[in-house]
Amino acid sequence: MTWDVVIGCEVHCQLATKSKLFCSCSTSFGAPPNTQVCPVCAGYPGVLPTLNGAAVELAIRAGRALGCEIQDSSTFDRKNYFYPDLPKGYQITQYNRPICLGGSLEFEVDGQGKSVRLTRIHIEEDAGKLSHGPGGTVVDLNRAGTPLIEIVSEPDLRSADEVVAYLKSLRNLVRWIGVSDGHMEQGSFRCDANVSIRKGTDEPFGTRVELKNLNSFMHVKKAIEYEVARQASELDSGRKIIQQTRLWDDRAGVTRAMRSKEEAMDYRYFPEPDLPPLQLPDGWDSVPLPELPAERVARYRDQLGLSAYDAQVLTAEPDLSAYFEDVLSTGANPKTSANWVQVELLGRLNADGLSATESPVTPDALGQILARLADKKLSGKLAKLALARAYEGEKLAAIFEDLGEQVVDPNAIREPVKQLIEDNPAQVQKYLDGNQQLIGWFIGQIMKTSKGRANPQVVKSVLTEMLEATRE
Ligand code: ADP
Ligand code: MG
Ligand code: ZN
Repeated sequence: MTWDVVIGCEVHCQLATKSKLFCSCSTSFGAPPNTQVCPVCAGYPGVLPTLNGAAVELAIRAGRALGCEIQDSSTFDRKNYFYPDLPKGYQITQYNRPICLGGSLEFEVDGQGKSVRLTRIHIEEDAGKLSHGPGGTVVDLNRAGTPLIEIVSEPDLRSADEVVAYLKSLRNLVRWIGVSDGHMEQGSFRCDANVSIRKGTDEPFGTRVELKNLNSFMHVKKAIEYEVARQASELDSGRKIIQQTRLWDDRAGVTRAMRSKEEAMDYRYFPEPDLPPLQLPDGWDSVPLPELPAERVARYRDQLGLSAYDAQVLTAEPDLSAYFEDVLSTGANPKTSANWVQVELLGRLNADGLSATESPVTPDALGQILARLADKKLSGKLAKLALARAYEGEKLAAIFEDLGEQVVDPNAIREPVKQLIEDNPAQVQKYLDGNQQLIGWFIGQIMKTSKGRANPQVVKSVLTEMLEATRE
């Protein structure tokens, strides 16, 4: 029996503000514990929250890029629960009237287009962080009050691979528009996946299980695949799925029940009395958005003639896409640039764990190499050598001087060819006797004496002509 899988995601994405959502404490990552804390984010009695306008702007930007309806007026609510990482005893979030409704994200899975509808995006504050050690549990409140958006999808996803593709595309987008740094290992982008299964696509949805705080694509994939198999085996053996929250235990490779799913009433949501409704000022939509990844993919395909695959790879990541744009702006041919960036550059960067912004070869340097390739001053082989040497840190001018210019004038090649023919009568005879393969050996010799500068096509044509001329 195969099951139809249904998944909806709640993504928590940290907004790239300098300060927290309701106070002016820093949000920078990695500071010593409890050094970025004030009475507001530590939840002292009597303090008042002040909304950070920059967080609102970023939430709006995310909503616009995702095609949401931005609400002129939205409200904040208290979500009450007790936990040691939440000193106030409640989290300020947007429950009844979130800032964004609707919207969708289009992305590709295995070359196929897929669209996922969004339910809502709301603004909320993060909690602190508990660390459990041998001496007990300690709390770090540096993260408490950090601004987040929660992006909630409709249950439109149908497999672990679709979820991973959705999350990659969403992460690319929020980084692209500067809404979040998207650092998953730092918790800036994490996903709760709600998973259920049903017998067929016309059946009603099954009972869902929420897999909480998945913070790497690998965990997302493994946790969902495990959970689907677990639910299938429960149902196959006549048991029921219990609605609950489960956690992925990566070491054991299983999901474990954390708690039974709480209902909204358990949180006793009520309007936040310390914050008035958020009314957006006129002109909130006047800041232009940059060209978005999907628009750029379409432009690369339709105007630059790149393959759908190349367009996808070159826009999958903001750094790399900006790098590629800069190479194009040197005037380099788009298809050649696409090849060189993917084949010659990316391989090296990936091997060294570098991002495109950290590339030892700047876009301008690559543009100059490609210009010499286009002018035939460098052969393909020498251009690759130039890139390899530039990558190792050598100055471009020195490399170009050392490599010299490719020899494309046949007359400049006649002298060494004449010499080669004179010096190798036996080889020449074999060639004339019908061993055409030997032309490769002759070409190799000329390439060697010219230190790789001779153009191989020109060498071949001069060689063929002069070898033939020795017949009679
Ligand atoms: P909460 O987790 O806060 O109780 P919601 O009811 O808003 O929230 O649902 C959260 C997520 O669960 C949404 O992304 C939604 O698409 C997804 N979801 C709802 N029902 C199902 C289901 N039967 N199977 C899979 N996902 C579901
Ligand atoms: Mg949830
Ligand atoms: Zn603070």
